[in-house]
Amino acid sequence: GNMLKATNIKKKYNQLEVLKGVDISVNKGEIVSIIGSSGAGKSTLLHIIGTLDTADSGEIYLHNEPVHQYRNDKLAAYRNRHMGFVFQFHHLLPEFTALENICIPGWIAGRKKKEVEQEAIRLLQTLGLENRQDNKPHALSGGEQQRVAVARALINKPSIIFADEPTGNLDSTNAKEMHHLFVKLRDEFHQTFLIVTHNEELAGMSNRVLHMKDGLISE
Ligand code: ADP
Ligand code: ADP
Repeated sequence: GNMLKATNIKKKYNQLEVLKGVDISVNKGEIVSIIGSSGAGKSTLLHIIGTLDTADSGEIYLHNEPVHQYRNDKLAAYRNRHMGFVFQFHHLLPEFTALENICIPGWIAGRKKKEVEQEAIRLLQTLGLENRQDNKPHALSGGEQQRVAVARALINKPSIIFADEPTGNLDSTNAKEMHHLFVKLRDEFHQTFLIVTHNEELAGMSNRVLHMKDGLISE
């Protein structure tokens, strides 16, 4: 079956019906992009499927786990362990080094400190950041900051990475590099992605592109 399956997702803000019963499924190792005009509800959908926001109705299954039923501590732990997030802005913690920022979700998950650090160092190498591990975010370029954010999203080997305009704040060179990184993570590690993007190149590299319009999705 599908790694991720969400059915009949509905969301209203006051009188505004943003999501009118969205169905979406993602298979392991796929990059799926969601495109559509500004205000179409793409971010709302991604936040709901990533359990950062709640729907008015609908079901979300990740590996057949009914995550829409999870609440509070169980939900937070599940999200930290099995879902990775990359946003338009990196949201790294300014007082911590690149290595520490990457390790934090692993430490929160209660994994062994040494094991998490070794994994973080491997990720720094994979992402071409090996000489940046002791730098704090302000000392890194925009492209490097966003790659650290990707490494942080990967540290717990999540089932899926949710990315909301991940290259929206990067220049075209860094954006291109990020797109190739996502493809490499998919092809070499079977990493699964669900991405909201305006970037045609990134959408073009996806396995599937979903169009959001009038509160519904079409392929
Ligand atoms: P997109 O990501 O496609 O640009 P969004 O999901 O951000 O669209 O927003 C969809 C619609 O829902 C917009 O009209 C937006 O103003 C509205 N919206 C989003 N979040 C809220 C909120 N917390 N409260 C009220 N309206 C919201
Ligand atoms: P993005 O850049 O990802 O589309 P926005 O800047 O639209 O995000 O929204 C940032 C935050 O504000 C989100 O948490 C979203 O839910 C909320 N938000 C967006 N539109 C509205 C709105 N019309 N009223 C209240 N909150 C909103």
